[in-house]
Amino acid sequence: MSKENRLISFTALVFVLITQFSYALSAQIIEAKIKIESKTPTVIEIQGVNLDADSLQNVKNFSFTQSYAGVENLGERVSDVDLSDENKRKIEYKKLIAGEFLAEKPFVFWNYKVKADVPTNYAAMSRVSWISAEQGILMFGDLLPQFNTKNNAKIRAKISFELPKGWKIASSEKKSGENTENTFEVSDVEKAVFYIGKNWREREISVGNSKINFIISGERQFSDAEAFQMADEIFGFYLKMFGAIPNQKAQIFLGKFPAEATFGRWEAETRGASITIFSAEMPFKTQSLQRLHEQLRHEIFHLWMPNNLNLSGNYDWFYEGFALYQALKTGVAVNRLRFEDFLDTLARAHGIDSLQSQKVSLIEASKNRWNGANTQIYARGMLAAFLCDVAVLRASKGKNSIADIFQQIYRTHRQPNPQREGNSAITDILQTREELRPIIEKYIKGAENIAWQTDLEWFGIESAEENFQTKLKVKAKLNNRQKDLLDKLGYNNWRKLSESSR
Ligand SMILES: [Zn+2]
Repeated sequence: MSKENRLISFTALVFVLITQFSYALSAQIIEAKIKIESKTPTVIEIQGVNLDADSLQNVKNFSFTQSYAGVENLGERVSDVDLSDENKRKIEYKKLIAGEFLAEKPFVFWNYKVKADVPTNYAAMSRVSWISAEQGILMFGDLLPQFNTKNNAKIRAKISFELPKGWKIASSEKKSGENTENTFEVSDVEKAVFYIGKNWREREISVGNSKINFIISGERQFSDAEAFQMADEIFGFYLKMFGAIPNQKAQIFLGKFPAEATFGRWEAETRGASITIFSAEMPFKTQSLQRLHEQLRHEIFHLWMPNNLNLSGNYDWFYEGFALYQALKTGVAVNRLRFEDFLDTLARAHGIDSLQSQKVSLIEASKNRWNGANTQIYARGMLAAFLCDVAVLRASKGKNSIADIFQQIYRTHRQPNPQREGNSAITDILQTREELRPIIEKYIKGAENIAWQTDLEWFGIESAEENFQTKLKVKAKLNNRQKDLLDKLGYNNWRKLSESSR
């Protein structure tokens, strides 16, 4: 066949595929069918096709994510790779390493299998794809091949699923047309997450213009209604704080670990608009509820930051440290956390940061998050957030707070604003407030010991050593300025709430 003829037949084929299967307004770059059989549920069979060859680059490389968030050797799960051209003629390829293949020429069709056993590492269970006898989580970041697009465009895809009988599927991705239960239009393959399985309960919660689908699987000490109500309250709180919704649809999945887990163990991940939480029970119901509230306060924050910011690079110190701090503050604001616990957590973080023998700046530490710098990023990042909050409250005499910083960052860098490097984008915004400049220099860009005595004093908080640990306490005698500022941090919040409910 001449080159021209081949081109025509290829175009015709793509045209047929598009008209047959796609109702989308924006063109899909790839299409794939994902098949899971009940006989062998952990083996996933995937058949895909490149629909838009013009958007893709180097279509001779067929490769998969090798590691994610500290989980290694993901490529080893890929087998039975079969690549072919537009006429379904086989194309030879070389296996370079596990999960990385080089074809002799550009391919159009790609079939392969993934063995998605439950990972042995608990942290991996919320971060990579796996399937057990009753449930599974499919994360396209590791399940689908990594294609390069021109201009680094996101890969849009049309994906259909064939699941064992009786299994359900849920996702924040859009369903493709009416009456197509198991077909979705995925807007960004890298971020897409699908939950599959049976025996789960779900509810759709509407907050503002946003819909949250909340799935709970496994028996819990608390009722489903209690969990749904929490998500509603927390999402509503952040919606007010940020001033705009992050996504039209978000998905929350709360499940039991697919393996035996000790009391209190949990792992969570928020990717795109999907929150995955695996959590074992605590000894008492009140503790389990407290724990869930804590998880939701932190993970729901991530729907806005970093997930809906168009920022790149490792600026984890900001979106983890500041999320941790805001989650704490939210806990006090909605009366789930005592102000004493708020202070205790800050004191513990200060203790962790002071003990670091090798101090590095937050920006340095963020480059190394999955190699041991994690605790430091969380502890020091949270302290930096607290100091920013305190500095802004102090400079504005209580009129502004960290919420104004969040709003400004969200407004400036939310999708679809142009992409910026995260560290410089965030520090540029912090820099606009004079009172934050010393914090950036000393603690964010610098590796100095955190000296917070003057700030604490200004707010009427004293620190004392008890059993070799720093304890923070509100002073017995407070002046009016201190009372006002402490109230802005959430002190006396329970009193205000109980008065207003009378
Ligand atoms: Zn986080």
